[in-house]
Amino acid sequence: MESAMQRLLIRSISKLVSCDERDTVYENVDLYAEDGVIRAIGPKLDKPADEVLDAAHMLCYPGLINTHHHLYQQFSRNLPQVQNMELFDWLKTLYEIWKNLDTDVVRLSSLTGMGELMKHGCTTCFDHHYVFPQGAGDLLEAQFAAAEELGIRMHASRGSMDLSRKDGGLPPDSVVQTVDEILADSRRCIETYHDPSFGSMRQVALAPCSPFSVSADLLRQSAFLARQYGVRLHTHVAETKDEENYTLARCGVRPLEYMASLGWTGSDVWYAHGIHFNDEELRELARTGTGVAHCPISNMKLSSGVARVPEMLRLGVPVGLAVDGSASNDGSSLLEELRVCYLLHRLTASAQAPSGYDVLKMATRGSARLLGRDDIGQLSVGKCADLFLVDSRRLELVGGLYDPKSVLGTVGLRGPVDYTVVNGRVTVREGRLVTVDEPILAEKARARCDAYLART
Ligand code: ZN
Repeated sequence: MESAMQRLLIRSISKLVSCDERDTVYENVDLYAEDGVIRAIGPKLDKPADEVLDAAHMLCYPGLINTHHHLYQQFSRNLPQVQNMELFDWLKTLYEIWKNLDTDVVRLSSLTGMGELMKHGCTTCFDHHYVFPQGAGDLLEAQFAAAEELGIRMHASRGSMDLSRKDGGLPPDSVVQTVDEILADSRRCIETYHDPSFGSMRQVALAPCSPFSVSADLLRQSAFLARQYGVRLHTHVAETKDEENYTLARCGVRPLEYMASLGWTGSDVWYAHGIHFNDEELRELARTGTGVAHCPISNMKLSSGVARVPEMLRLGVPVGLAVDGSASNDGSSLLEELRVCYLLHRLTASAQAPSGYDVLKMATRGSARLLGRDDIGQLSVGKCADLFLVDSRRLELVGGLYDPKSVLGTVGLRGPVDYTVVNGRVTVREGRLVTVDEPILAEKARARCDAYLART
């Protein structure tokens, strides 16, 4: 049988911000992709294609890459009982809801959370899932199926917790597992779902929840297993002072030294948050190539602190951007995160703060590096065709387009983007998801969410 090549031509792009090594911004160019890979960027390419988009008034950017999320939290947002809490109390309260997770909740929260991300320019999503209640079913299968349905590139995690309240951890007994159970299922998930090839749509990382909900043995063995299979390692580190006090009290060392002693530094490791690192620790992250997923909105909402991103960028620590879980952000828009990131560091670091363009690079090339990928995160020939388009004629952008590289950070963009393309396929068209009926999905998800919250 003849294999049908899938060809995309985007014509007459007004400004294409490539985020490539030379920071190239093209004007009035076409972009042509075959089977998800960019084959040409240039004027008047005149190629036959299955899909042709006219982008005469469009700004074009590499797809945004989310490096930390908890999609299941989509169904526990804006709950008044946790609104004024900080992380430890917030988690203890919410675990009473999260212990009722099942494949249906995970599927629908993944569809709605990733749908929102895609409508705001995101083309790759990493999800840190670590709640695996007994008998809940194959949660990664549900997530990958949701990603496939939407057409987004997904990195899922086999997360884990083995310390419940009786062992000094925060979660209830029913959501923790033994180290043996966790490692066996981690192996199964990698063998079943992980695809390391160029242009991969599905990857798996191992991601124990945090130093205060897992044992040293689980951290050590997860690192060993991940390296056997060549998959990446992720967890929360240095999010709060409570965590620092916890490792100091129980292990006599600060969080980074504790993690390093268990094999948890290196260019295949990235941490969520990384707020409370001292100077020496920042240098250690740079030296080892250990990355940080920066989540400014979540850090503000949970009063966790301000990550030292200006210093990290100066020292060469790999930094990416992320929305964090829906319950500590109350949304899933990396566009919003770009502007909040820009403003937060302007407030606290003034002239040392990253520019609007720096935060865009953080959410594209920087995020790609955290996920261990060089096939995404920039628009150039030979890379994946992951991008989004914004109509520059919108009323909100009038007078703000002098520098298209920084406009998303400085002026910001609230509404959905016009088009999102993943792997050469249009997944958002005129601001709407292509493959699902949004009102029907929203109605189903709302009903499931109501039933789920009613159980607690
Ligand atoms: Zn998180």
